[in-house]
Amino acid sequence: FMLFCALNAVKGMVIKMKRIICVFLVLLVCSCTASQKETQKTVYAMGTILELRAFGATAENALSAAEAEIEKLDNLLSRGFANSEISRINKEGGGAVSADTLAILQKGIEVSNETSGAFDLCIAPAVDLWGFYSKDYYVPTNSEIAKVLPKTDYRNISLTDGRVNLSRSTQIDTGGIAKGYLSSRIIEIFKERGITSAIISLGGNVQTLGTKSDGKMWRIGIKNPDGGLFGTLDVYDKAVVTSGGYQRFFEEGGKEYHHIIDPETGKPAESGLKSVTIVSSDGALADALSTAVFVMGKERGESFWKDRNDFDIVFVTDTNEIFITEGLRDIFQSEYDFSVITK
Ligand code: AMP
Ligand code: MG
Repeated sequence: FMLFCALNAVKGMVIKMKRIICVFLVLLVCSCTASQKETQKTVYAMGTILELRAFGATAENALSAAEAEIEKLDNLLSRGFANSEISRINKEGGGAVSADTLAILQKGIEVSNETSGAFDLCIAPAVDLWGFYSKDYYVPTNSEIAKVLPKTDYRNISLTDGRVNLSRSTQIDTGGIAKGYLSSRIIEIFKERGITSAIISLGGNVQTLGTKSDGKMWRIGIKNPDGGLFGTLDVYDKAVVTSGGYQRFFEEGGKEYHHIIDPETGKPAESGLKSVTIVSSDGALADALSTAVFVMGKERGESFWKDRNDFDIVFVTDTNEIFITEGLRDIFQSEYDFSVITK
């Protein structure tokens, strides 16, 4: 009888254990499904469509925080809002600004210096002369351009004790760096909220956090303005930013004039490139450098890259030749021929 009781007790324990294991497995499956849950948000700001996708149980909360950050930075930086901090200091020739505005201006000045002004944070006077800001497009005369060139110079801006000083009536335009800066901020916000997998696209500026939720890399396409893609890049934890003359231009007298201005000439950059894509873990750097390397052209861009190790480049020339820097060798695919640039 005692043996019978003991056997029954063991049987009971096994059944209990089985139940516990079952409950545990169900919980595990649930928690895995919850951590895979995708949440999306589309926001209109900075004159473009911003698409955010984050995975995990805290994604909803993280996306709301990101949306608040987008609104905050847009209100500080937009030249389209008369009350933004940038509009105010442009109008008043300087003044005190918030820590957020100060941080992006610092970054903009840093990249302007590093690229010897190919990226120029004070490009606004030239951008405005061509009507790219008002969308009232105009091809200026050489003497009109000559007049704005002394203003169009990042060396006219200085920061002291949280204050901005603008000399020679220069004007700031954060258009070449703001989206990348914002995408880096959003990724930080996601990380603070426990997100480990996300992808955001701010008007074509892509930044990824971690890998896809299945552990595979994110595949980012490089657009061929004539249709299809020039190639794709498989990345994780990286920003992928493309600048190209095809992204914004107007036509006059059978000629196209695009929105990326060479600060040396005050005219749309004619550097022999159709597009430049920068891959970097720093979103703001990727954005500013996509603009700068487009201005530099392939030769100058290549030697600039050789001196650094914080980004990689895909060049597409006007004649559709493709060049990639060696860091992209294993992650770039294309149906076209391409050459690899090495150090
Ligand atoms: P992106 O699309 O990032 O290449 O930025 C282009 C935008 O940056 C333009 O619409 C202008 O507002 C601004 N921009 C144009 N040329 C330059 C330049 N050389 N340096 C900095 N910003 C520029
Ligand atoms: Mg840019």
